[in-house]
Amino acid sequence: MTYDVFVIGGGINGCGIAADAALRGLSVILCEQDDLASYTSSYSSKLIHGGLRYLEYYEFNLVRKALHERERLLKLAPHLIHPLPTLLPHNKHLRPSWMIRLGLILYDLLAGKHSMPRSTFLRLNSSNTSLKPDYTKGYLYYDGAVDDSRLVVANALQAQQHGAEIHTQSKVIRATRVHNLWEIAVTHADTTTVYQAKTLVNAAGPWVNNIITDVCHDEAKHHVRLVKGSHIVVPKPSSYQEQNAYILQLADQRIIFVIPYFEQFLLIGTTDVDYQDDPAKASISMTERDYLLKNVNDYFTWQLTAANIVHAFAGVRPLVADEHANASSVTRDYKIEVHAVNQQTPVVHIFGGKITTYRKLSEEVVNLLRPYFPNLPYSKTATAPLPGGDIANMQNFIAQVQRDFLQLPEAMVKRMAHAYGTRIYQLLEGVSTIADLGMDYGHSLYQREIDFLKNTEWATSMEDILWRRTKLGLCNT
Ligand SMILES: Cc1cc2nc3c(=O)[nH]c(=O)nc-3n(C[C@H](O)[C@H](O)[C@H](O)COP(=O)(O)OP(=O)(O)OC[C@H]3O[C@@H](n4cnc5c(N)ncnc54)[C@H](O)[C@@H]3O)c2cc1C
Repeated sequence: MTYDVFVIGGGINGCGIAADAALRGLSVILCEQDDLASYTSSYSSKLIHGGLRYLEYYEFNLVRKALHERERLLKLAPHLIHPLPTLLPHNKHLRPSWMIRLGLILYDLLAGKHSMPRSTFLRLNSSNTSLKPDYTKGYLYYDGAVDDSRLVVANALQAQQHGAEIHTQSKVIRATRVHNLWEIAVTHADTTTVYQAKTLVNAAGPWVNNIITDVCHDEAKHHVRLVKGSHIVVPKPSSYQEQNAYILQLADQRIIFVIPYFEQFLLIGTTDVDYQDDPAKASISMTERDYLLKNVNDYFTWQLTAANIVHAFAGVRPLVADEHANASSVTRDYKIEVHAVNQQTPVVHIFGGKITTYRKLSEEVVNLLRPYFPNLPYSKTATAPLPGGDIANMQNFIAQVQRDFLQLPEAMVKRMAHAYGTRIYQLLEGVSTIADLGMDYGHSLYQREIDFLKNTEWATSMEDILWRRTKLGLCNT
């Protein structure tokens, strides 16, 4: 068989492109060398946001595009993305209050008509914040929080539902043009298979340059600058009673987020460190860990030490290399290049991007294939809910599933409603009591869910299940 589109990489961009192309009727195959979302797409800060701080770099187009996508994604995947109130405390030694206010007015304006509350000024005291008493005023605004790796899986599922083949543990080792087609060699376990495709998409994230030079033997105008970002996860301190996240300004002009994470934890990050090694081997350094701990401790009444850390992870941003010396100020927007030979066998290389803008990027990538598929319809992803996302109101939906599975623990059903959306009915089909779920692995993980993930979501290992399909690794030893 000759596929219309061959996608390299099962991160958010690769899976988003596969979904967009499949929804338009193209035959698609995607190969991912490890698990879906094994790398950058599961190591993010998990925000669907415009990026308030990019306003300082005059990235108005990026912020506007991201804010519009924020609104759209909240509707397409309400189970995976929820509004996140975020407090920006005013720090009298850093940006003046009028500047923050102006930035937030602009942020609200760039978002256009949107469903989330506009930003407001807040007087702070011990009844509404666990910040130190020096912080007496702040600004509250809204962004979105996402389960990043599940958003990737949702896109892979959407692609599959429209005929795409998704292959994990399948590494692309060679891609060559032969008689106006791409021949792509892929290793899976110990075997190599060669596929044929009319077009090739390189969505390999931090490996995009390797694919260009070593796999396609191509040359590109752009390249990526790898910047490592690390996070720590700590149990939520008992005095952290607020529902909101924080965006903290630091003296080095950077910001870090403190984000309530799965009710009992806080997610804290990130750093920006130039990185040259293998992206698969990135890990948090002691310096980054201490930097996060110190800066958080400077702001809050509660104090953390390294002993509080229950989990830490590092991801590598594949940023479009530009002239900025400082890693924090490199653009978070993306660039796309198409190379064809005699107007045939195009390859599309993707540089940079954000989870927030993956859908728009995917639409643009598939639009660029129009010359090769003249009757290609317009993209449908702006209005097609992601699998499980056909939910009008998330609160009502949770209440309904709680009623439908009265015999099951409330917290487990709520977790599953968020993770699977309406697919929870597929997961729990025929289940009435806890005994129907099979072996208990602790912390609400039962054999039934493991089988569901193996059979319908490409999970092949305990890591896939504990860290990417669920985040139960945080609770399990
Ligand atoms: C610390 C950090 C925080 C971030 N926070 C946010 C945030 O809050 N909000 C936001 O919108 N964005 C955020 N981002 C950015 C966002 O995570 C990335 O832009 C996005 O995940 C990149 O997705 P990708 O698909 O391009 O890359 P990846 O997710 O890395 O996917 C590329 C895939 O290609 C595969 N691959 C590579 N080579 C091959 C091969 N030869 N064969 C087969 N497969 C191959 C890899 O295994 C990988 O899975 C953050 C990034 C980092 C690092």
